[in-house]
Amino acid sequence: MYRWKSSWTDTVQQKRDHRIIRSRHFHKMQRRHFVIFDVLPLAGTLIALGLLFHRPIGALEFGLFFGFWLITGLGLTVGYHRLFTHRAFATSPTVSAILVVMGSMAGRGSMLSWAAMHRRHHELSDHDGDLHSPRLHGNGPAGRLRGFLHAHLIWMIAHDYPNVAHYVPDLMADRRLVAVSSHYYGWVMLGLVLPAAIGGFVEGWWGALSGFLWGGVVRMFVVEQTFSAINSVMHTFGAQRFVTRDDNSRNLGVMAWLAWGEGWHNNHHAFPYSAAFGLRWFEFDPGFIFIRALQAVGLAWDVNVPSAEKIARRMLRQSGDAAPDLEAG
Ligand SMILES: [Zn+2]
Ligand SMILES: [Zn+2]
Repeated sequence: MYRWKSSWTDTVQQKRDHRIIRSRHFHKMQRRHFVIFDVLPLAGTLIALGLLFHRPIGALEFGLFFGFWLITGLGLTVGYHRLFTHRAFATSPTVSAILVVMGSMAGRGSMLSWAAMHRRHHELSDHDGDLHSPRLHGNGPAGRLRGFLHAHLIWMIAHDYPNVAHYVPDLMADRRLVAVSSHYYGWVMLGLVLPAAIGGFVEGWWGALSGFLWGGVVRMFVVEQTFSAINSVMHTFGAQRFVTRDDNSRNLGVMAWLAWGEGWHNNHHAFPYSAAFGLRWFEFDPGFIFIRALQAVGLAWDVNVPSAEKIARRMLRQSGDAAPDLEAG
């Protein structure tokens, strides 16, 4: 997805702003990706629900759904987001490659594209150029609704493409990572074939079909909706514990449970370098629990977490009291 064919107009656009690429070729690819990975999973989910009238689902389907929901969700939040986009911890090349595969299976785009888009999101949060802000379509109820739909789904149909050479040169320099990420479509297929194969092994042809549907297609639809909600819901509803550079990021506990810890989105915008999104003991953060587990067995190190003092200073600073400016997040 990061290879591009430039037309003359594209080249002009790149000269204007080297951070983005406006390309009809990319728009065509984005539309195709939207149909395959957003529209078709919805259709497949409706078929899976319809089949429930024919044959109810059991432990196999629940197990495959939750198993692949967890694998792909952790691939996105721990791999794509905390490790590759924000470099919030360090790990081995093998674990990095496995996290690329886990995240790719979700069907949310290749790791390099995702990381570039997300770094742009942090650069411009809720300002012109943020690809999926719900706040740029007017302040009335109609504008807010348009913005919400844009952030949740519509932006994906055709959007500016962040120049990976500008946004993720560190990731592009890792040839092994680039090679694994370039097989994105193969990994997505693996995420569909594996649950079908497991289902088929356990329950024959019916198991293969229902494994494909519940571990593959329905899971892909649910993960896609959840990650879309981080763009739409998490910049609209919830509490703002931290004042963050004029953006509207929010914390919403229920989304932390549903989205592997991503619901502490305001915390994350305040401390983007932190591997932990939940910053208080009661802020449940499965992604960070996974990172701590990797750390406990020696597979993660240099795990960044803001100290209690740093968080307290930030709170003091935004409340207007005099406090030294210790952190730049
Ligand atoms: Zn955000
Ligand atoms: Zn982020």
